[in-house]
Amino acid sequence: MTSLNELTLAQARDALAAKKASAVELAQAHLDAMEKARGLGAYVAETPEIALDMARRSDQRIASGEAGALEGLPIGVKDLYATKGVHTQACSHILDGFKPAYESTVSANLWRDGAVMLGKLNMDEFAMGSSNETSFYGPVASPWLPPGWSADKARAALATKEKAGLLVPGGSSGGSASAVAAHLCLGATASDTGGSIRQPAAFTGTAGVKPTYGRCSRWGMVAFASSLDQAGPIARNVRDCAILLRSMAGHDPKDTTSVDAPVPDYEKAVGASIKGRKIGIPKEYRVSGMPEEIDALWRKGVDWLRDAGAEIVEISLPHTKYALPAYYIVAPAEASSNLARYDGVRYGLRAPGRDIRELYENTRAQGFGPEVRRRIMIGAYVLSAGYYDAYYVRAQKIRTLIRRDFEAAFHDGVDAILTPATPSPAFAIGEKTSADPVEMYLNDVFTVTVNMAGLPGFAVPAGLSKDGLPLGLQLIGRPFDEETLFSVAQAVEEAAGPVSLPKPWWA
Ligand code: GLN
Repeated sequence: MTSLNELTLAQARDALAAKKASAVELAQAHLDAMEKARGLGAYVAETPEIALDMARRSDQRIASGEAGALEGLPIGVKDLYATKGVHTQACSHILDGFKPAYESTVSANLWRDGAVMLGKLNMDEFAMGSSNETSFYGPVASPWLPPGWSADKARAALATKEKAGLLVPGGSSGGSASAVAAHLCLGATASDTGGSIRQPAAFTGTAGVKPTYGRCSRWGMVAFASSLDQAGPIARNVRDCAILLRSMAGHDPKDTTSVDAPVPDYEKAVGASIKGRKIGIPKEYRVSGMPEEIDALWRKGVDWLRDAGAEIVEISLPHTKYALPAYYIVAPAEASSNLARYDGVRYGLRAPGRDIRELYENTRAQGFGPEVRRRIMIGAYVLSAGYYDAYYVRAQKIRTLIRRDFEAAFHDGVDAILTPATPSPAFAIGEKTSADPVEMYLNDVFTVTVNMAGLPGFAVPAGLSKDGLPLGLQLIGRPFDEETLFSVAQAVEEAAGPVSLPKPWWA
């Protein structure tokens, strides 16, 4: 018999409704699995008392026929989301001890619908990274075994602080992806500024959706680059993402960029026919040096969608090649401004100094890790007088051109765009933390355009590499048309077949 934590979110929902299991049993099964999986480093804070208390109340509501859409379903929350009275540090040292007095809108929406909080999930510091290695709390290991490794060898590596040689789960939502893939929650909140939902999902054989900018409220999410940041779920499959996003999304007067538009029942779009839908294949996404297996997977994806009745058209997104450099100007610029608030006075870490200036300097020097400091410096540089026009303004112009590329494709009737999600399968912890940060940045080559244009993007598990590691395909949609993405993503998922997630060698 599958244990309760191995159910999908939809299956668990149905099991609770049919009274085949209780919310308390479901929460306990996850808490037990989390305890055995501590070595993976997916959670930075576990909240068993809160989980069991919420689950008890869920059981009462189920008994009295007042169940919400997510009643009794255990969820993990990325450490980026403010959770009232609970550890919220965006996995940074500078937010040491911060327990907010308020709840983020997205997590509050989940609790409103009856979901159960299991704890806070590891992530790259301030969501800056593609491997979860910049976290103050140390790296997260993927539950997927490195090719050729025995479980014993992996367990030995897991017992070390560095976890070197194990696979990264991707980043920045590495804890979310690893926890979902290892069955340590039924689904997780994540966030995506340049790919942080989609790349970790692709690396771990899970599904992740970044909705249109404005679909979810950013209120109570620790800000990285405000014009790019967007909340979204990582879950086991397309349907589970649909169920979670419906709860997370919605207008919020506390975030003026959140859009006042009704949230559709995304689950209805899962399984809808895609006959006659026009799928664009952008020729510029065939990047040099891309492994043949990624290209082969992409071609397979095209065949699957054609077989499902879609019309395939080649499209051109000519400014794609400028997206990554422009992103790495816009994102650090906004980050340098957002992170100015961490000064050792208002919250978190305080490193004393002789005067206020030295206190600021000491706090920020000790509190921020190297990648965050690098971004603040790049950001301050591109915004400074004399360089503003040369870098920041030009990057913004490129951003407009990228958006227009997509608009032109959609204007020509394209309903969704299919691309690879990542240029490679997961790499090893320690493999890309060399002197050249650009090596890491190249991971985002297929994902950043979507944030620059504010569009919805979906990463769907689509198969395995020659070494047996998960690979994902990405679907990009029209603004606020997540429903089409859910239908097309489901077609890919169905054609690709179910992913068999790793057995718990870590326990
Ligand atoms: N990897 C990208 C970066 O480091 C994207 C991060 C994200 O989406 N939060 O900026």
